[in-house]
Amino acid sequence: MALFSESKWVWKNGKIVPWEEATVHLSAHGLHYGTGVFEGIRCYNTVNGPAVFRLDAHLERMFESARTYGLPIPYSQEELTGAALEVISANGFSDCYVRPIATYGSGTLGVHPRNCPVEVAILAWPWGTYLGAEALEKGIQVTVSRWKKFSSLAMPATAKACGQYLNSMLAVQDAVRRGFDEALLVDEEGIIAEGSGENFFMVQNGNVLTNDERDHVLMGITRDSVITLARDLGYKVFVGQMHLEELEVADEAFFTGTAAEVTPIAALDRKPIGNGKPGPITLELQRAYFAATSGRDPKHQGWLTPVTAQTEVKQAVRS
Ligand code: PMP
Repeated sequence: MALFSESKWVWKNGKIVPWEEATVHLSAHGLHYGTGVFEGIRCYNTVNGPAVFRLDAHLERMFESARTYGLPIPYSQEELTGAALEVISANGFSDCYVRPIATYGSGTLGVHPRNCPVEVAILAWPWGTYLGAEALEKGIQVTVSRWKKFSSLAMPATAKACGQYLNSMLAVQDAVRRGFDEALLVDEEGIIAEGSGENFFMVQNGNVLTNDERDHVLMGITRDSVITLARDLGYKVFVGQMHLEELEVADEAFFTGTAAEVTPIAALDRKPIGNGKPGPITLELQRAYFAATSGRDPKHQGWLTPVTAQTEVKQAVRS
């Protein structure tokens, strides 16, 4: 569950402001046309204190999304790194979700965003298991979405941009209405793309399979982490097209995402995947992922940016 009520402070255009003051005007371009880019990041309470998982990779992707849309972010990556850590520590959070956003503000409501200032904010709030408490343990019920994944020729699927999420929203809303936990989107030819907010993986004959930008997906940072961890564990990872027919005979399947972490898929349209329980390789990768996010994996300490270290530096600079 998202707990906005616990979040007291927001970083907005260079300053920490109270949550109530972190507002935009109703004439904001981003509100009308979804013109903005954002990130979804998690901070974990690791064995060495609170630390943000793959902060650099997330901010790099945000700048890349902004470049794709020609949206100038008036801060450096270093400034946004400091800002993310500052908003986490200002709120006193250890486990939380972090949401940077850069969006066009008020200036014009012509579709071209000329004269609109770019507003940049970073929110943080506690956010538990994205797909429900039992999802990580027991797996979820997924349906093939009736809404197709948009083509990268229509909008750049590799960018994490606000308006693009209307496609995801239609898909997940329809899935939930029909009694499922999440949607799997395929393209117009039936080739698997991704979940509404997750990348998709299958396991077949002991090998790990996923797709990439050629199938109109966001290049997830969890996806990248899981590929690395799978290879660390000695699995072969194949990256290429995945068809629904292959999924019908797959041994295991799972979703990855910052919010969803590594979520096993129990069944597709009520047809069990494997024996309908989370598979052994999925669970091994899930354990490896949580070892990395909790600071218990010595090989991937570099994926964690400690929150306290930054706070100490900032305080030292201020005093
Ligand atoms: N695909 C979509 C459409 C998403 O929204 C997300 C969540 N950001 C992902 C994949 C997974 O990306 P990541 O692992 O970087 O969170």
